[in-house]
Amino acid sequence: MIQKNPSVCVYCGARDGVLPEYAACADAMGRALAANRWRLIYGAGDVGLMGRVARAAQDGGGDTFGVIPVHLLQQEVGKRDLDRFVVTETMHERKKVMFMNADAAVVLPGGAGSLDEFFEVLTWRQLGLHDKPIYLLNAAGYWDPLIALVDHVVRQGFADAALSGLVRVADSVPALVTALQADFGRRNTATE
Ligand code: AMP
Repeated sequence: MIQKNPSVCVYCGARDGVLPEYAACADAMGRALAANRWRLIYGAGDVGLMGRVARAAQDGGGDTFGVIPVHLLQQEVGKRDLDRFVVTETMHERKKVMFMNADAAVVLPGGAGSLDEFFEVLTWRQLGLHDKPIYLLNAAGYWDPLIALVDHVVRQGFADAALSGLVRVADSVPALVTALQADFGRRNTATE
């Protein structure tokens, strides 16, 4: 039985956002993936934070796996020089292929697409469909309102208190790396 290197699904903005901390966080994320030999799985775009994470991972010699739906190939500038580049027919297929191949999900600053991806994997986890860790990378406090919203949902009685515990928060890439190292040390990552 050969243990595969863990794969980390990174969700993040197709734009850079206004603060330089967001771009710096994406660059650091890509470098950290490569340094730890964790495979990057992401949306295969070459724009915004998405492109930054991928380029930094590639520059560090990391393994990269991108998945993009055919209708976004132009808009998100499909990054065809990844180690694996998969084109799906639909967005649903994209998200499924990304997450089923991952051992953990990390959400960097992003927009509605990143929020959609976060809530999808969070609700799947809430339903017991997987037990992969889900992290918000809270660069410059970007996700503070989202963390407050999840707590509000719990406090107002629309979810078990356990929901808050399913959302793990890392304030920096080094903090995230420490947490993932513990997860991957404990977890039986996918085997082949
Ligand atoms: P954003 O965070 O809005 O910049 O989007 C980041 C990524 O999420 C892009 O690759 C989008 O294609 C993707 N995405 C995933 N689900 C959706 C969705 N339901 N609507 C828009 N974008 C999405």
